[in-house]
Amino acid sequence: MTHAAAPYRVPFNRACFEGNEIGYIEEAIRNGHISGDGPFTRRCHEILEKQTGALRAYLTCSCTHALEMAAILLDLEPDDEVVLPSFTFVSTANAFVLRGARPVFADIRPDTLNLDETRLESLLTPRTRAIVPVHYAGVGCEMDAILDLARRRNVAVVEDNAHGLFASYKGRRLGTFGCMATQSFHETKNVTCGEGGALLVNDPALIDRAEIVRQKGTNRNRYYRGEVDKYTWVDVGSSFVPSDLLAAFLCAQLEAVDRIQAHRRRIWDFYRENLSDWAAARGATLPTVPSHCEQSYHMFYLLLASREERTALIAHLKERGILAVFHYQPLHLSEMGMRFGGQAGDCPVTEDVADRLLRLPFFNELSRDDQEYVVRSIREF
Ligand SMILES: *Cc1c(COP(=O)(O)O)cnc(C)c1O
Repeated sequence: MTHAAAPYRVPFNRACFEGNEIGYIEEAIRNGHISGDGPFTRRCHEILEKQTGALRAYLTCSCTHALEMAAILLDLEPDDEVVLPSFTFVSTANAFVLRGARPVFADIRPDTLNLDETRLESLLTPRTRAIVPVHYAGVGCEMDAILDLARRRNVAVVEDNAHGLFASYKGRRLGTFGCMATQSFHETKNVTCGEGGALLVNDPALIDRAEIVRQKGTNRNRYYRGEVDKYTWVDVGSSFVPSDLLAAFLCAQLEAVDRIQAHRRRIWDFYRENLSDWAAARGATLPTVPSHCEQSYHMFYLLLASREERTALIAHLKERGILAVFHYQPLHLSEMGMRFGGQAGDCPVTEDVADRLLRLPFFNELSRDDQEYVVRSIREF
């Protein structure tokens, strides 16, 4: 979906700049290091490790790539099963399917729209190798229960934390609960470089291999560190390393994260404060953020009373030059999902929510004027 070029007075998303992006890219060019793992990549790794507490952070070209790396590192075999929510982006499933694994689609909780931990156990079989919680809208999944189950059944946990950079669950950063976690720096995310991602590694046993897989299956990183005198092909892998030009852009954004988050928080709070009574009167609900979760202010959505109500509100806002969009369609009912056995009724909450959820314009530079206009337009509906 691209919204940027649409002639909307208030687009859904707009690429936003924090100020140092061009200067840093110039610096990367002057450094003469524009391939991967240069000085800016190292700076990004440091910030990510320091701010999340993850053992290691590795920039990748996308969150999709980070998920693919995680799937390789899990050594999945054909017919292994990976449990993930049906209510997520395709890459959460595709990365594991590429390794020959079967996605098993789990339903979500009706409040946070996160993986329903109370129904997870019934989906596990002797072939289950991993559970992939997605922290929807940057609100943490119930990690205590998920980790407890994963430990008891000896399955790995990989967090898809594309929405939840720097959010926390019970005081601990998202992305540090699983053996691995993935981040996205796509243009639609809080912090971006256009296209980009990161793999966070929390299990020390995975570090050496993560470096190899990320470097096309070679021990190039050990060579750079002077640990071997030439580098060679030692494992499977691919080209997951982004250019230092992208890292330079990302670095400018990561360094401004406090400002970005403060602004996004104001936007989120304004929507909530000004839409609560309207929602109650229309039988709609606003996002639920449990008190033990510190969210990332990634998005603001309305859950409308019905699909018809949502269609009508989208049209009403469009007439006023405002683009509001729905979100994930159930993966278990997609063409691919049905090939893996997905059927209507498998994930009733997902099926219901996918029809009623509407995301409002939300980007770092959304002005108070434009936001007031969005709120006023909704209240006129
Ligand atoms: C955006 C997103 C991805 C994919 O991110 P890319 O960086 O575009 O590959 C994966 N999972 C979720 C939950 C996302 O929102």
